[in-house]
Amino acid sequence: MTYTKTIQRVLALALAALLAACGGRHADDGSAATHAEGAAGHDDDHGDEHDEHDEHDEHDEDGAPATTIPADVAAASGIRVAAAGPGTIADEHEVQGLLTPAEGRVAQVTARFPGPIRALNARIGDQVRAGQALATIESNLSLTTYTVASPISGVVLQRSASVGGVAAEGTPLFEVADLSTLWVDLHIFGNDAGHIVAGIPVTVTRMSDGASIEATLERILPATATASQSTVARASIDNADGLWRPGAAVRARVVVDHADVALAVPVTALQADEAGRDVIYVREGEHYGERPVTLGRRDGERVEVVSGLEAGEEVVVSQSFLVKADIGKSAVAHDH
Ligand SMILES: [Zn+2]
Repeated sequence: MTYTKTIQRVLALALAALLAACGGRHADDGSAATHAEGAAGHDDDHGDEHDEHDEHDEHDEDGAPATTIPADVAAASGIRVAAAGPGTIADEHEVQGLLTPAEGRVAQVTARFPGPIRALNARIGDQVRAGQALATIESNLSLTTYTVASPISGVVLQRSASVGGVAAEGTPLFEVADLSTLWVDLHIFGNDAGHIVAGIPVTVTRMSDGASIEATLERILPATATASQSTVARASIDNADGLWRPGAAVRARVVVDHADVALAVPVTALQADEAGRDVIYVREGEHYGERPVTLGRRDGERVEVVSGLEAGEEVVVSQSFLVKADIGKSAVAHDH
């Protein structure tokens, strides 16, 4: 925020300098301001500048604050306009979740007969194949050794035995998980659960490094997760390269729907006036008028304009804060 404000200040100063350099049309130019105050009855050779200055300090026909910015100054300042028109607004939700091994892809490796553990052939994190011998046990029943193999290919997640210990019948020695597919369990709160449904696309992003992957919501779990009072929406992601790890925290952008709206402007067009109301700036020639607008739906990029703007009007879509600053500046100059 502070950074943005600093940038805005720098740009506003740059604009002020450009405006001052273009012939003193603006009130921040000392001579022009003085001139404006005392010039009511003068008919000197500043007449043209004076007219432009007055127009600049005054308001639109409808009383809305306005300013005049010469085309070359606007261009040099990066002020750009676009004709207002129809647009598409996404209904999107930003949610958080956790990666977990997919159910049915986790195997407990157990001893068939009780007896001392003679050897353990795998460690946590090892990649093992289905049928690979993970342990050698001496059976208390036959007094011969037998091997215990992994039933699936995957990664050893847990090892709960040590050599020399005694394996009890049915006690897990290892937990092996196939992590080539992972579940993404996303937590949905409150009313959002009502319209976030299976089939919706999600973009899953790792918290740790920002890496992203596309997925689709497969199901909404019927029960509420009691600890968080959330509903769990589940997607799965391909993890053949093993870069995603179970237990990792993720965030996800869930795009529920796209709505076509009659009138939309980029969020970069929006500013707030002194009373905190939403305004945009509409250009006619070199004239920029402030326009209060009523907003509707919005997403990360665009916002619906419900009233206050007509299709085809030219809206400032970049550096709108410079226009705001210029209007604010002339209002201050007007006060004294
Ligand atoms: Zn929604």
